[in-house]
Amino acid sequence: MAYPPAVTRLIDAFKTLPGVGTRTAERLSFHLLRAPPDEGRELAEAMLALRSSIIACSQCNDLAETDPCPICADESRDRKRMLVVEQPRDVAAFEEAGWHGLYHVLLGHINPLEGIEARHLTIDGLVDRVAAGGVEEVVLATDPDYEGDATSLHVSRRLEKGNVRVTRIARGIASGSAIEYSNAAMLSDALQGRSALDG
Ligand SMILES: [Zn+2]
Repeated sequence: MAYPPAVTRLIDAFKTLPGVGTRTAERLSFHLLRAPPDEGRELAEAMLALRSSIIACSQCNDLAETDPCPICADESRDRKRMLVVEQPRDVAAFEEAGWHGLYHVLLGHINPLEGIEARHLTIDGLVDRVAAGGVEEVVLATDPDYEGDATSLHVSRRLEKGNVRVTRIARGIASGSAIEYSNAAMLSDALQGRSALDG
């Protein structure tokens, strides 16, 4: 059915979000239409503030409000160990699992079918950080799927020349599942069971 243009605009905007189809977008839009004005304003302002206050840490690429991020700036962390993950949300998952080292966020994985190549990720930055010294172990914690494995293999080859031990977390988490859907206990086990990468 045809809605007034302002309603259609909001419905279309909601539909750009992951997992939101037409029906959900309509439900959310009509909820806001009936809700007190403050509710809609707070939502709009929170979305605007997100984009203006969140930046990528220049060291680990995690999302933060400061640069360096609180983790990179924390001198009490184990700076000899660096956990390599695909996405900022993986950092949150491994924080919950008790990781006390540093992180490096690749911002994706290699996926030739989608045109995502190694050069689109932050691998150069990782190589630079390792070359700068101080890191003794790089733990690869990409997703346990085809793209994650291919990415880990590529990263390990790039780090071959560096004087650093490269390990991969154990496959405790079901193959094909994503880090973000694993619970803290599973991730903790996967960290404990990490082993040297072959090849
Ligand atoms: Zn950082």
